Amino acid sequence: MSSPTIDAGRLWSDLMTLGQIGALPRGGCDRLALTDADRDGRALFAFWCQEAGLAVTVDGMGNMFARREGTDPSLPPVFAGSHLDTQSPGGRFDGPLGVLAALAAIRAIDAAGVAPARSIEVVNWTNEEGARFFPGLMGSAVFAGVLPLETAHAAADRSGRTAGEELVRIRANGSAALGGRPVDSYFELHIEQGPELEEAGITIGVVTHSNYSLYADIEWLGDNAHISSMPMLRRRNALVGAARMIAEIDRIGRARAANGAASATVIDIWPNNRINIPHRATFSYGLIHTDAEGLAQMAAEVEQAAGAVAAETGLEFRMLNNRKRDVVRFDPALTALVEQIATQSGHSVTRMRTKPGHDAFNMTRLCPTQLIFVPCRDGLSHNELEWCTPEHVEAGATVLLRAILARAT
Ligand SMILES: [Zn+2]
Repeated sequence: MSSPTIDAGRLWSDLMTLGQIGALPRGGCDRLALTDADRDGRALFAFWCQEAGLAVTVDGMGNMFARREGTDPSLPPVFAGSHLDTQSPGGRFDGPLGVLAALAAIRAIDAAGVAPARSIEVVNWTNEEGARFFPGLMGSAVFAGVLPLETAHAAADRSGRTAGEELVRIRANGSAALGGRPVDSYFELHIEQGPELEEAGITIGVVTHSNYSLYADIEWLGDNAHISSMPMLRRRNALVGAARMIAEIDRIGRARAANGAASATVIDIWPNNRINIPHRATFSYGLIHTDAEGLAQMAAEVEQAAGAVAAETGLEFRMLNNRKRDVVRFDPALTALVEQIATQSGHSVTRMRTKPGHDAFNMTRLCPTQLIFVPCRDGLSHNELEWCTPEHVEAGATVLLRAILARAT
């Protein structure tokens, strides 16, 4: 028996090989949830798990669990994982790092001949990204009992296909129990997706808590009319309301850049052609802030701005689908444990908050949970140029391995 050590070469090669599935020309990935590319990524992951002697099961939401049996299978297992789906375009590390590093940890434990008491499960959560089916963090939300399975299955993409139909089509609708079983703890390794660790020259970020966020849509209503003949001063162009509000939201975000952010993302207009003035326009936006009061103020500013735009343009608006997310706090004992492991492993470490959402948020409802960050180049993610160095991949995987072992032994 020796001390388990991550095979960093194999882990890097796994990341690069998985990155070939849905590969994009500038080095990124396009593996939107429940597409053919996601199906192929899942198949490769399952193959690697079986090669490592793990039993792979899939639940009715497509979440995958690859289990290494402990010496006492009656104990609740340690979970470690993340997601294999990506944005479009996305990168090679956002998600796959946490899944493949957990698999690398199991390989290291087996290679060293160590026999932890607890079982360990590597998890691939379905549709973390929320790019194709809203909301994101979907698989872990269903597993944690936060989102009903039927609601998740009914989520439709922009072409009208539902997540439930696509799960069946790619044969990812398994029969494993959907949650409802005890879990000892959950660890998720992830790239930071921001520039703080890189700028501070720190290798490991131990995440203590999240930001407050709000995602919503605004619908603008005007009158459909001919682009050529309707007198200019009688026009009520819904797109003008949306355009002004998109600029307002950007202004509101910039004014609070120290602790907050705001951006518009998706826009839809009706009709969407060159000859018609659109009567309806909706767009989605997100607000994020470090504290609840700041978020509430930003939301109030958005409403005020919408009222002012409506008054100036003669348009009507409706605020739709507000989804608020309160702060999520990780387990203080696991935070201290991971911090200690990182230091003992010779890495610089800091406590920090996460701005993006992660499956770990949902797992905090079930068990002690810890999110671990490593730096990414220029803070880039959801971008083809997203990059994490081999050294940081190895450092993060080593800390993950030692945290899993500390909990499973
Ligand atoms: Zn991610």
